[in-house]
Amino acid sequence: MARLKAGLSKTSSNLSTLFVGAKIDDDLYDELETALLMSDAGVEATQFLLDALKRKVKNERLTEAAQVKSALRELLVEMLSPLQKPLVLGRHQPLVMMIAGVNGAGKTTTIGKLAKHMQTHRQSVLLAAGDTFRAAAREQLAVWGQRNNITVIAQESGDPAAVAFDAVQSAQARKIDIVMVDTAGRLPTQLHLMEELKKVKRVIAKAMPEAPHEVLLVIDGNTGQNALTQVKAFDDALNLTGLVVTKLDGTAKGGVLAAIARTRPIPVYFIGVGEQIEDLQPFSAEEFVEALLG
Ligand code: GDP
Repeated sequence: MARLKAGLSKTSSNLSTLFVGAKIDDDLYDELETALLMSDAGVEATQFLLDALKRKVKNERLTEAAQVKSALRELLVEMLSPLQKPLVLGRHQPLVMMIAGVNGAGKTTTIGKLAKHMQTHRQSVLLAAGDTFRAAAREQLAVWGQRNNITVIAQESGDPAAVAFDAVQSAQARKIDIVMVDTAGRLPTQLHLMEELKKVKRVIAKAMPEAPHEVLLVIDGNTGQNALTQVKAFDDALNLTGLVVTKLDGTAKGGVLAAIARTRPIPVYFIGVGEQIEDLQPFSAEEFVEALLG
């Protein structure tokens, strides 16, 4: 919570100072509009929040700025609550999770954190090094796997879909609980990334019907509206079941979650709040809004 608060401190100071000693007038709403836009909430979510807030102020006959702030808090929690869903483990054996995200979003770090999280919930984990285009990514996973006693299925070169297929079969044979399939975040050739990822998904289903059970997208919380564009593109191609929003400890503004809630309400299973293995926490709308509004 402290890291999240520190990460979102710019937005929270922008949002909370404007209520201090303020009158409830057009100036307040204008300032709020600017602060929400600056927080990366985007035009649509900002307008939605402002309209809802004005209605609430009128209906509830609010007269103090502090009451308006509380009303905004309630609206934000209501807006973000649909994103708060836990990742349920143990529904299938193995539970197959495909993990996507553009390079630099924090995908590899997140896979490590997730694996650790699963282990602490007594789940055995197998990783598929499906980013066959980046030797470094493969090596990073292999080293990490060795250190943490996690089997990593990798191939020197070749087809990411084949690596995923092998991994699922191997997990079935070994009665492993969870398979996490890492995927490429960028391709070195003209090949279309989304087509490649769709193929990985199709081939996973051949190894195990109904798999992958989860298709997660890792997004960098610092990239604002760009992150929203990524959510749309990956969701269109892969039907995402969940998101992990990373780097919310840095200088992220946080509002992008409001934009996601309005346009693609895909559950945010976890948020990343640091570079260390334990810096992953389940998303809580209440906590997030507390950090966002101060
Ligand atoms: P990938 O290219 O998507 O696999 O990204 P990496 O996992 O290699 O991460 C890119 C950089 O972001 C690394 O320096 C990570 O340590 C850092 N990183 C990842 N997640 C977080 C996070 O939640 N907070 C912070 N501060 N840094 C993160």
